[in-house]
Amino acid sequence: MRHLIAILLALSTPFAPAFAQSAETRIGWNRPSQPFRIWGNLYYVGTAGLSSYLLTGPAGHVLIDGGLPESAPLIAANIRRLGFRLRDVRIILINHAHFDHSGGLAELKRLTGAKLYASAGDRPDLEAGRTIGRGDLADFPAVRVDRVIRDGEKVTLGPIALTAMLTPGHTKGATSWLATIGGKRVIFASSISVAGQRLVGNPDYPRAAADFETTFAKLRATRADIFLNYHADGFGLEAKRAALKAGKPGAFVDPGELRWVVDAAQKSFAKELASQRAGNPPG
Ligand code: ZN
Repeated sequence: MRHLIAILLALSTPFAPAFAQSAETRIGWNRPSQPFRIWGNLYYVGTAGLSSYLLTGPAGHVLIDGGLPESAPLIAANIRRLGFRLRDVRIILINHAHFDHSGGLAELKRLTGAKLYASAGDRPDLEAGRTIGRGDLADFPAVRVDRVIRDGEKVTLGPIALTAMLTPGHTKGATSWLATIGGKRVIFASSISVAGQRLVGNPDYPRAAADFETTFAKLRATRADIFLNYHADGFGLEAKRAALKAGKPGAFVDPGELRWVVDAAQKSFAKELASQRAGNPPG
């Protein structure tokens, strides 16, 4: 939702430079947050508004998502605060190439020495440091992709195993990750909101609407015990964290949440598509 508000604010000031958008929103997203263990060897190391996840193991750790450019030092500090070493982070994954998730990647790569794995669809934007065709979104430090991952590809590091599920629409290469952690099936779901994307006659992304439809179908065919995404208010992070702290170890376990989120996103998508087909600008 905040993502959407940020974009609406940006669209309402078309003559302002893209990077000037929603300074207040960025500050809110980037408030520091205490890191904590979610489940098994899975930890939250993000900021108050933007998720980053650390999966730890004896052969090294996997970090997913880098927040804003200004989030990188906070994410690094959170990893250290949990007692892990930055140089043990070997692989960095992302959910999609927008400034609020990929912004910190270049600095996190530098701090850890890890390799960045990303989809072919998101690679050009990551390496350009901007979302091509989206002048309404802020630029971010360009970052080199070390390995291109394909749909269904498995990424392993010692006992850690994650499977890529390409879920494009929000961006051309948006990627969800699936893993079994402590006996539970976990989905790290990419953003699936339209969020200002042009769905009709978009020369930079002609397949956007079709990709959304395919993504919704794939997610409907997926089962997850733990649903995670990358905007804290998109999966009730604070309420779950409080429940965990109050002594409910399964606070993040909810096998119905993925379906509920997909239902809501698909409903918004259908409404937005109808609006754009009627000639309205992306809302
Ligand atoms: Zn986004």
